[in-house]
Amino acid sequence: MFNEQGKVKQVSMINYPDDNYEELKMKAQKCERCHLRAKCRQVVMGEGNTRRKIMFIGEGPGGDEDRQGRPFVGRAGQLLNKIFSAVNIKRENIYISNIVKCRPPDNRVPTWDEMDACAPILAAEIKIIEPKVIVPLGSTALKYLVDDNLAITRARGQWYNKGKLYFLPTFHPAYLLRNSNMKKYAWRDFKLIKKAIKRIDALKSSEKDL
Ligand code: SF4
Repeated sequence: MFNEQGKVKQVSMINYPDDNYEELKMKAQKCERCHLRAKCRQVVMGEGNTRRKIMFIGEGPGGDEDRQGRPFVGRAGQLLNKIFSAVNIKRENIYISNIVKCRPPDNRVPTWDEMDACAPILAAEIKIIEPKVIVPLGSTALKYLVDDNLAITRARGQWYNKGKLYFLPTFHPAYLLRNSNMKKYAWRDFKLIKKAIKRIDALKSSEKDL
């Protein structure tokens, strides 16, 4: 999704406001740009603090998210909340979203075309929030946001950067629910994420790189 300079590539910003979050949200909630919308209950926008300069991005809403209209509220979201609280990150103080905003049928992985269709909304979220750090949650987000050739098992806990944008991928909490032996690695990653948040806060309102 990003070129090596950290700019969004190939995504048309047409139709999505990228300077007003509430307008973006209203417009996104009416989106019918791809066929996923016909099979889900509602568009699930990201949520959280749009001024904290850190975004967590997963692949797409699941069944609970589709019912409630909020990201990461099902079992995986509850595990994520527990991890946040273990490292003293307040969920309301970060921004969390997904690449596609509509639930793929049967919770399948979204296709590249579906992610491309939804990318203008994510690109507008990113333009508004101007994150210094993005945490891709899981393999799909890692591949789409950072590099298609990377594997999450090797890339997690490692820093990647494109221009001034830094990425620190970690496992998707749904993966951790299925592979509890991997939680120890996620724990390490979230300690790094916590450090990054402290650094971002220390640099607040400065133009310095992370
Ligand atoms: S997944 Fe994204 S592009 Fe497709 S209909 Fe939903 S909001 Fe629109």
